[in-house]
Amino acid sequence: MALLDKLSNTLSETTKILGEKSSEVVEINKLNLSIRKKQNEINEIYEKIGEYIYGKFKRVNFITKEELDPWLNEIDALEKHIESLGRIIRNIKNEKYCENCEIELEKDTNYCPLCGKHIN
Ligand SMILES: [Zn+2]
Repeated sequence: MALLDKLSNTLSETTKILGEKSSEVVEINKLNLSIRKKQNEINEIYEKIGEYIYGKFKRVNFITKEELDPWLNEIDALEKHIESLGRIIRNIKNEKYCENCEIELEKDTNYCPLCGKHIN
């Protein structure tokens, strides 16, 4: 009987862990989808910039950075958003990552072995 109890306990534990894992997977898939959407938005801005530069150079042979600033700022904001989504995903997966070196680290690492950055 004790063995059966143990078995059913293990089973319910396993079921619980699997349940948690599958909701994590769903969450991570959603976050990855948002990342892809943001990346598409960035690509659309690249396209607009390309069209603008092309149109401009057909008429005049110069362009200033100021003309592109609104788009560059938009891309900047989208990249920051993507970065924070990536951070949330790594948090869910319980992964450690050095943003300076853009490398994944062992779970028990507190400092990046390359740059020495403190990793939370
Ligand atoms: Zn580092």
